[in-house]
Amino acid sequence: MATTPGAPAEQRDHEAARERIEALRGEIHAHDYRYYIEAQPVIGDSQYDALMQELRALEERFPDLVSPDSPTQRVAGTPAEAFPVVEHREPMLSLSNVFNRDELLAWRQRMARLLERDELRYVCEPKIDGLAISLIYEGGRFVRGATRGDGMRGEEITANLRTIRSIPLVLNADPATLPAAFEVRGEIYMSKGEFARLNAERAAAGDQLYMNPRNTAAGSLRQLDPQKTAARRLDLFAYQLGWVEGERPLDAHHDAIRWLRELGFPTNPHTEAFERIEDVAAFCEAWVDRRDALDYDIDGVVVKVDDFAAQRALGVVGREPRWATAWKFPAEQAVTRLREIQVSVGRTGVLTPFAALEPVFVGGVTVSMATLHNADHLRELDIRAGDYVIVQRAGDVIPQVVGPVLARREDGLVPFEMPSHCPVCGTEVAKDPEEAAYYCPNRTCPVKVARQIEHFASRGAMDLEGFGEERSAMLVERGFVSSVADLYRLPDRRADLLEVDKIGEKTLDTLFAGLERSKQQPLHRLLIALGIRHVGGETARALARHFGSMPALRAATVEEIEAVDGVGPIVAEAVRAHLDDPAYAAVIDDLASLGLRMDEEIAARGGVLDGLSIVVTGSLERWSRNQVEDLIKSLGGKVSGAVSKKTSFVVAGNGGGSKRDKAETLGVEILDQSAFVARLAELGWADQT
Ligand SMILES: [Zn+2]
Repeated sequence: MATTPGAPAEQRDHEAARERIEALRGEIHAHDYRYYIEAQPVIGDSQYDALMQELRALEERFPDLVSPDSPTQRVAGTPAEAFPVVEHREPMLSLSNVFNRDELLAWRQRMARLLERDELRYVCEPKIDGLAISLIYEGGRFVRGATRGDGMRGEEITANLRTIRSIPLVLNADPATLPAAFEVRGEIYMSKGEFARLNAERAAAGDQLYMNPRNTAAGSLRQLDPQKTAARRLDLFAYQLGWVEGERPLDAHHDAIRWLRELGFPTNPHTEAFERIEDVAAFCEAWVDRRDALDYDIDGVVVKVDDFAAQRALGVVGREPRWATAWKFPAEQAVTRLREIQVSVGRTGVLTPFAALEPVFVGGVTVSMATLHNADHLRELDIRAGDYVIVQRAGDVIPQVVGPVLARREDGLVPFEMPSHCPVCGTEVAKDPEEAAYYCPNRTCPVKVARQIEHFASRGAMDLEGFGEERSAMLVERGFVSSVADLYRLPDRRADLLEVDKIGEKTLDTLFAGLERSKQQPLHRLLIALGIRHVGGETARALARHFGSMPALRAATVEEIEAVDGVGPIVAEAVRAHLDDPAYAAVIDDLASLGLRMDEEIAARGGVLDGLSIVVTGSLERWSRNQVEDLIKSLGGKVSGAVSKKTSFVVAGNGGGSKRDKAETLGVEILDQSAFVARLAELGWADQT
């Protein structure tokens, strides 16, 4: 390259800018730490803003010096179309619950027995009512973050997490002293103060108010546009060191929390360690009354065994670690006025009364609706519109009306009567004599069809993404769908669908690909999806295994159906009635003609994977995770979540990281999709798809 006379000066400028930029970033980083971690800011907002402004100006002049962890880049992400799904390297488990001292002691007893020792150290921390997230750091920098999701897979929301100023982008330590990569788990929450500020703004603008801090935080975190996340102030409490690449730097949870704090993570200041379980119980009980003094909602206290070695020895049962539990606060009650008893219509057409309440604050949220269970419950308790009622809420449970406050009943209130006509379509309501339930008999009642679609698409059924409540209702309302079979005709209506708000090409591609894949779902999933009364997962599996195909099932008599293991006379009658109903029979014929699979894995009954323990990781092209797991199980194999020496082989698709590594270390065989298919064929599996 030819040198120009100006070059050396420019280079000097560039060098000076680089130094100044680094100094500014360091200074801003230090101020963030004092502000968010130590809560002792040493400069005012305007001075802080001046530093940011200078940094921004320099970065604009020298764009090559911008780096993703610069404080100016917290809100630099562009809106996403959707969040990519990521598999957690280690599952984000849920916690068992205890509600009182006795249950806490029993929890401790179990651990002492398993460990064969009595002395344990416990760490207690307030259980923040927020959203669990996973943050990954590499070389001392924040690189990726995800929601908890279902514990196995979450959504990657890195750009949004960057906007949260209490999440450190660069850690307070020399990267050389840190593990190459590690995960930090924490809870994102919105303070009560910020929640009040937002709602005051909304009230002034005449907008509908937000329900509670937790839902508002959840909504903010999942904005596709990071600018929107940044506009609401969210906060973090780091509560756990997750996986660590290489040596784990510490031996105990409490030390890990202290270490995270030194690195720049906000940790809960009320975290305390105890040696005696009685002290743990006293700590938990004390928080029931102290909780209101905090500027954030808590719904219990988390108690963990401190020692990592003991944690490992105790392990996990189901999806819950044995070494931790949540002391949940008791249900809260409040009294409010029942404005009106309304009626909703469900998937099977059953009418369910629910309470529309004067909004009341109970258990940390403002409640304006509550369940009344069913018409019988309502009659038994004689709850009337206009009554003052006791409303109860515990944890995430739907708020419920416990009963009326009869002393406050006013004159002229009348007992509740079920409406004589469907509140949605106006069809005359029928009564099911067996179940004392009222239902709308109209097969094409729009609410019923929409709910059927939701159910058909649900995870345990056909496992279709993107057919939630709102979209299902839209598809029915706009006449795209009047039975579940119509879903498979949606690809023919691409152009019409593109006219609909909020549906783009990409969304349609995803929806259609899901539909196409779902055609290969085995018979038992289709049986679940059809929503036959009394037929849940177990029964559907038993029927599918026994009959092998839809035609065989349809040809069976009630007696033959009843002969299936685990199927009683009521279920057999319900199945027969469903199959005999001309409208449902037409839907099944329709689905078959659209190319849906109507059988169960035939070789399944041969059990070609009998006795094998298989781990699946990453994503496969041919099957969804649910499908491949179903296939393995139906062939007699066991699906395991973790690789060990006992693992027969690992099926690895794209992106399976840690499990693949583990398998390599242990010398366990790894099969990609085609090798897996070849192995199945070798074992005698007849590939039907
Ligand atoms: Zn109706």
